[in-house]
Amino acid sequence: MTLRKGHRHERPLAVNPLIGEADPIAGVKTPLPRHRLPDGPMAPTIAYRLVHDELMLDGNARLNLATFVTTWMEPQATQLLAETADKNVIDKDEYPQTAELEQRCISILANLWNAPIADPDEAVGCSTTGSSEACMLAGMALKRRWMHRNADRYPGARPNLVMGANVQVCWEKFCNFWEVEARLAPMRGDTYHLTAEQAVELCDENTIGVVSILGSTMDGSYEPVEEICAALDALQERTGLNVPVHVDGASGAMIAPFLDPDLLWDFRLPRVQSINTSGHKYGLVYPGVGWALWRDREALPEELVERVNYLGGDMPTFGLNFSRPGSQVIAQYYNFLRLGFDGFRAVQQACRDVAMHLAREIEELGCFRLLTRGDQLPVFAFTTTEDVKEFDVFDVSRRLREHGWLVPAYTFPPDRQDLAVLRVVCRNGFSLDLADNLMEDLRTVLPWLRRQREPMTGPEDGTSFHH
Ligand SMILES: *Cc1c(COP(=O)(O)O)cnc(C)c1O
Repeated sequence: MTLRKGHRHERPLAVNPLIGEADPIAGVKTPLPRHRLPDGPMAPTIAYRLVHDELMLDGNARLNLATFVTTWMEPQATQLLAETADKNVIDKDEYPQTAELEQRCISILANLWNAPIADPDEAVGCSTTGSSEACMLAGMALKRRWMHRNADRYPGARPNLVMGANVQVCWEKFCNFWEVEARLAPMRGDTYHLTAEQAVELCDENTIGVVSILGSTMDGSYEPVEEICAALDALQERTGLNVPVHVDGASGAMIAPFLDPDLLWDFRLPRVQSINTSGHKYGLVYPGVGWALWRDREALPEELVERVNYLGGDMPTFGLNFSRPGSQVIAQYYNFLRLGFDGFRAVQQACRDVAMHLAREIEELGCFRLLTRGDQLPVFAFTTTEDVKEFDVFDVSRRLREHGWLVPAYTFPPDRQDLAVLRVVCRNGFSLDLADNLMEDLRTVLPWLRRQREPMTGPEDGTSFHH
């Protein structure tokens, strides 16, 4: 299902006469329908040209400061991706070496996140299409474990999941698809994510777990995972309720290990049962790969795991999809091998440096107030200062777009819908030079914005921005 804005084109595809009918054999029979199969084949060169040219209208990925998803990989990685596009990750028996690389990636992440295992082979986890699938799996494991603990009351009791209103939309999806009540802690004052106090307040005997985000897609801030765990420890002492924690580290689980080694957020905290990350965000792989890991075998109920044939034996698999490209997993392994710990640290530090530099420069313009400074995720959010009456963040976003930049503007969730922000995501490939170009364009648009009498229209449409 695709949702598209505006009118549907009924006109046939436009074909430039130079590539069209010049060659009666290789040429295209026009008119070329848009919404049904053409009557016959055409030469691959022409099909390539038509599709290639049409995609020219997409934005320039390097100027897209809205997405967290990787927009640049090295030529060697791109070559590996092309070489391995035909491998199906589920065929463990046909592609045992791909399966081996997947397992190595899981061990590497278990080590990076301090899983309490003696042997790398004991690492419990799987690759996924992204964090969304990983969150579904982690949520399902939490729900199943709660059902086991409450077999006498379920069905009947309604399970709930506690999290901040700043959660990524995949958690609302999880709750919707798997019939779990989403208990969302509202944003309070100037804290734009879940606090330990709120988490504990919302927990009861039907809570399957607390989701803590490292870090928030809304503003790049880390939630206080350690404090949340400590508050839940105290709750357990007081009431006996033992509420597990899942860390949604879609971005931060590939930042914090390198840049914030002293921050306690991972399996070093015994209450943390599972962690997900997006390989295609700060794991630096093109979209679609993610990872879900559990602290140990107990954290993932055995009955959720399927067995597939692997070299005559059977191999445990967990996932929503069956067939999926193996190439993304291979590209993830390439990055691990290529960069090593120091390489990842250098890349992530460069992103953080750019984010913090840009945040400072924007603050110095005087008409913006920073909500975050890019010193946690290399991401920051800012809004206009109180005294700015002529324009709002949506105007800034629109104006920057005229210069090719995608900087999203959106309103915050309850109870801070009054607050609208702009957000910048700094990724590998967004250099200090590009950041300076952005600043130059921002300085160019400001005098124009100041000439407005009032903000133009607010948000473009009623939908909120999800990334
Ligand atoms: C991006 C993101 C997700 C969803 O991840 P995908 O890899 O895009 O499926 C979930 N949670 C958080 C915190 C995110 O930033």
